[in-house]
Amino acid sequence: MLTLLNDYVDGALAPELCTALETHLAACQNCQIVLDTLRKTVYLVQQLPEAPVALPEEVEQRLFAALALADFL
Ligand SMILES: [Zn+2]
Repeated sequence: MLTLLNDYVDGALAPELCTALETHLAACQNCQIVLDTLRKTVYLVQQLPEAPVALPEEVEQRLFAALALADFL
């Protein structure tokens, strides 16, 4: 069931399976919760940059300076 939900969230599920899953979801609170969690997880992962990069210290300081300045505007 979890693999099905994964495919469903990814939009990779066959349309007939989607319909079957949606019918099941309408009656199964357990899977509704799992789907909700999956969707949030997928959303969060998509917000991440491809490879997390640490900001160089100089850039970081400029950023902090800019943010502090923005507080006075
Ligand atoms: Zn279920």
